Amino acid sequence: MQKELRELYQQVILDHNKSPRNFRKIENPTVSLEGHNPLCGDNVTIYIQLDDNELIKDISFQGSGCAISKASASLMTSMIKGKSVDEAKVLFEKFHHLVTAKIDENIDLEELGKLAVFSGVREFPARVKCASLAWHTMIKALEGKKEKVSTEEE
Ligand code: ZN
Repeated sequence: MQKELRELYQQVILDHNKSPRNFRKIENPTVSLEGHNPLCGDNVTIYIQLDDNELIKDISFQGSGCAISKASASLMTSMIKGKSVDEAKVLFEKFHHLVTAKIDENIDLEELGKLAVFSGVREFPARVKCASLAWHTMIKALEGKKEKVSTEEE
């Protein structure tokens, strides 16, 4: 990856860690779910408010963890807000592919849009679960899971 691009992505992650977006609780959410990454000690709770047409009207998170996990939850919530449940699933699939792709696999960053910020994560295998935690928890919440999820389950 280009050095300038890498630095830009790092800045975005640092900024989201410093001032996380949607870092709050939603009272009476349609669904909420707690997620845990025991490898790093990251904890996140995702709150989702759906409208009658399965549109994600509001999404937020709370929790504690490393910079990557917090920035990832912040970025994830800003990307998912206003999307339909189906669109959120597509974004999750793209994100999942991105962070688990092989280092030498060519990835079309333009096609990824904002998700490209996470493209450096696959170079740090220990960080993949930190970055995935919020996404993983969000998708399980939409699937209706109620019990706390862990990145070590699958
Ligand atoms: Zn972490």
